[in-house]
Amino acid sequence: WFFTIEGGEGAGKTTLIEQLAQYLTAQGYHVLTTREPGGIPIAEQIRGVVLDNRNTMMDARTEALLYAAARRQHLAEKVLPAIAQGKLVICDRFVDSSLAYQGYARGLGMEEVKSINDFAIDGMMPDLTLWMDVSPEVGLSRIHQGEGREINRLDLEGISFHKRVREGYIEILQREPERMIRIDAEKEPDVVLNDAISIINNRIKG
Ligand code: C5P
Ligand code: MG
Repeated sequence: WFFTIEGGEGAGKTTLIEQLAQYLTAQGYHVLTTREPGGIPIAEQIRGVVLDNRNTMMDARTEALLYAAARRQHLAEKVLPAIAQGKLVICDRFVDSSLAYQGYARGLGMEEVKSINDFAIDGMMPDLTLWMDVSPEVGLSRIHQGEGREINRLDLEGISFHKRVREGYIEILQREPERMIRIDAEKEPDVVLNDAISIINNRIKG
């Protein structure tokens, strides 16, 4: 199985993924959790370039291509081998992040960004994507309160950028209601976890 978790800033992806991994491991699955951009050295290096606060001059298409390159390497080197070994993979962000952030919010166009990502992923789409929906106001206040979380140049985009990211996810949800399921991520963490578990169980057992 290949599951991805999506959402804007401060949605709680990291926490949910840790809890899901614990739950699914207890159910007997061999779980691999990983994240994008990153997850392996080459892709973490690309992440460093993209998120470097000094790189304010980065062209939007360059940014989209770098995310797609990091995605390809991560998929080839880590995700595909794990799936081949029968593991259940949960990935923090995947192609939908590029569609929402670069395609929609940044204005490159979802179709354009999808086409470079089609090349990168070569048909490997998630079985299920959980979109953790949080209003940008709530999400941003969470990350600015949270300790130990570095603030990167994208976190500092204005609220209108993060609102567009959310609209981008809504667009994907409307196009692919089978694959992407929305979770209300403004609820308490245990409620969010239970919602996620029941959606996943439906998919695994259904
Ligand atoms: O999910 P995480 O907080 O690790 O993402 C790191 C940063 O990368 C975030 O600030 C997010 O806004 C940004 N990002 C992006 N476009 C993507 C994926 C992530 O701008 N396609
Ligand atoms: Mg995170």
